[in-house]
Amino acid sequence: MKKLANIIVDISHEKVDRPFQYRVPEKLQGILSPGMRVFIPFGAGNTMRTGYVIELTDEAEFPEERMKEIAGLPNESESPEQRMIALAAWMKEQYGSTMIAALKTVLPARQKVAQKEKQEIELAIPKQEAQKYLQECIRKHQTARVRLLSELTKEGVLPWELVTKKLNIPASTIKSLMDSGIIARKRMQYYRNPVRMEADPEKAKLLSDGQRRIVENVLFDYDAGSRKPTLIHGITGSGKTEVYLALIEGMIRRGKQAIVLIPEIALTYQTLLRFYKRFGDRVSVMNSSLSAGEKQDQCERARKGEIDVIIGPRSALFVPFERLGIILIDEEHENSYKSETMPRYHARETAVKLAQLNDAIVVMGSATPSLEAYSRAVSGEYALYTLKERLTGGCLPQVYVEDLRQELKDGNRSIFSKRLQEKIEDRLTKGEQIMLFLNRRGYAGFVSCRSCGYVCKCPHCSVSLSEHMNRKIRWGSAGQKMQTVQENKLVCHYCGYEQPALTVCPSCGSRYILGFKAGTQQIVEQLAKSYPKARVLRMDADTTRTKNSYEQILSAFSNKEADILVGTQMIVKGHDFPDVTLVGILAADLSLSVSDYRAGERTFQLLTQAAGRAGRGEKPGEVVVQTYQPEHYAVQYAAKQDYEGFFEEEMMYRKLLSYPPSSHILSVQMTSEKEAEAMLAAAEAADIARSCNVQKQDSIIIGPAPALIGKINDIYRYGVYIKNKDYQKLVEIKNRIEKTRASQERPKANCQFDFDPVNTF
Ligand code: ADP
Ligand code: ZN
Ligand code: ZN
Repeated sequence: MKKLANIIVDISHEKVDRPFQYRVPEKLQGILSPGMRVFIPFGAGNTMRTGYVIELTDEAEFPEERMKEIAGLPNESESPEQRMIALAAWMKEQYGSTMIAALKTVLPARQKVAQKEKQEIELAIPKQEAQKYLQECIRKHQTARVRLLSELTKEGVLPWELVTKKLNIPASTIKSLMDSGIIARKRMQYYRNPVRMEADPEKAKLLSDGQRRIVENVLFDYDAGSRKPTLIHGITGSGKTEVYLALIEGMIRRGKQAIVLIPEIALTYQTLLRFYKRFGDRVSVMNSSLSAGEKQDQCERARKGEIDVIIGPRSALFVPFERLGIILIDEEHENSYKSETMPRYHARETAVKLAQLNDAIVVMGSATPSLEAYSRAVSGEYALYTLKERLTGGCLPQVYVEDLRQELKDGNRSIFSKRLQEKIEDRLTKGEQIMLFLNRRGYAGFVSCRSCGYVCKCPHCSVSLSEHMNRKIRWGSAGQKMQTVQENKLVCHYCGYEQPALTVCPSCGSRYILGFKAGTQQIVEQLAKSYPKARVLRMDADTTRTKNSYEQILSAFSNKEADILVGTQMIVKGHDFPDVTLVGILAADLSLSVSDYRAGERTFQLLTQAAGRAGRGEKPGEVVVQTYQPEHYAVQYAAKQDYEGFFEEEMMYRKLLSYPPSSHILSVQMTSEKEAEAMLAAAEAADIARSCNVQKQDSIIIGPAPALIGKINDIYRYGVYIKNKDYQKLVEIKNRIEKTRASQERPKANCQFDFDPVNTF
């Protein structure tokens, strides 16, 4: 039982860096937990203050004799802040973070941003007296006073702006009237509201049988006390959002509040509008384009119960609701739900924990659920519902898989296969719209043979090797110029295996073994050459740098200002384009071959979602998938739109190679300016992991090995990967590594943990 507690006296974001240590009195030992409020004697005068326990420990930061003791517990019910601190403590443990970083993640930044103020001017004397005074001003021809007082005697109060601008009353007049006590200035605080929409309220749609069954069951189970998470597997357009809206309505009727997580990229005006039409001012939004003040105000509005629904990306989880009832996670499979900075939390697991702390439920939905979520649904840990029909009519598109190896054999060197060329021409003559989709991911140096589709893979890990360009600077002897030498090699990011780069294909001898070089820019140029009359829009990270460009491009395309939209994965999300009847996926392999065990899953998701863009209106749609690996199961199942089939096969590989969700992975990354230190620290971590593994031998330990990008800005990075079916075992290993490092006077290198990483390999 821990006998000491670290306590913060103020929970504002900036003060969490300075916790104070107190002794836990015997009567409170075993009772205290992070997040609880306590009374403490504070400062030189020992005035009683309330503080929050953020951590319980046995490690004294200064001699215990000099430490003060916690005085007691206030008699009160739990607040959202307490639950957030408890959540931070859980995140610290589960994801390997400092408590400070965890607290800063969950507590709203309460910086110096001033509360917005509204100022008004009101009469400070009774109306009758004001009337008399007004007559006097009229007599004296004090026109400014007359203007102001005649308005004020009518209205009682006036907005400050109106007085100074529209009525054009000089500041000196206002001041002298205030000084003589005739009028007074009223300051009122108000909250910025980022959702300002003119929208007619909309009633709920009559739900389909499938939708109604989900809504009724989830709410029935909730009322019956079940808090099991729910997964809705429904194709795009099957009415998931309508189900979310109905669930939120049900929760509001029960006096509860809702958090809706949506990937930032899908958080479009259209989506927001739908929520706004249903819930009006009771809904608000959080996203990265809000100012610190706006964000703070949304938290304040939530805390005060002025809103019932908040919509936002993963950080919207930390909006403090007093009566949280439901957390919805749309597009549950999205990678953006995993934080890439410490604490590297996953919004799905964190939402489940937050729901547990609030006695709330989690409902998530996707057309292509993550293997994590779906395997839990299959095992019964989550409730599973399926929606299989598009409610707006329109059938699933016809999918063609085109073999790019064959195209090359037939002498076609263009980025467009023959079938795609034919279909583009056909659509242009008919005046129907086209989307061309290129996956940019995988640029990271994967190498394949254009003739036979061969991909260089690691002999030990079954992931593809990445091409590394090593620029080495070589100094000649004195007086000579320095030279840069380029050395290419192929590297495995899982085990560190490397080999020289290839110049001919080991499988067929072709020289066409190289990275796929076409970017969206090249595609647009190619289109301009082949179809000079076609109007082309391009959307990728380069064309969407400014705040509204994403929406602008989408709405231009939707207004039929262009025939063809070319883009990266961004274009597969969000909008409905009823006139798109052709979707071209230019190289499905680019996502297959990244050196990541999730490559198959990503490819399946992208192909399914891209295909879901075609034929959303009356006219039937077609999809052309170009690939060097037409036989790949992810391509095959995506073409058939068979999620279950894909899931079964992919799970088999994950089990075979102990990848999540069949097993969990802890990645330990050591960084240092000195390569030897990073390497040594990683070796030390690997040793600790191995010593934890002596008895049961249930972990698989890989490394130490250089990380994906072995060196950034002269900082060397080394990693250790530990796989174990039992997540808590990995937490234990993490804690052992942390403890060892804490006991060292000067730990070598910097250490970062990442559980079930999504991007770092
Ligand atoms: P998803 O979120 O699964 O993509 P949506 O909820 O956005 O699906 O629904 C797709 C389309 O179908 C939307 O235009 C929506 O207005 C419409 N829709 C959803 N539910 C119904 C319903 N019960 N009756 C009629 N139209 C519906
Ligand atoms: Zn390997
Ligand atoms: Zn080959």
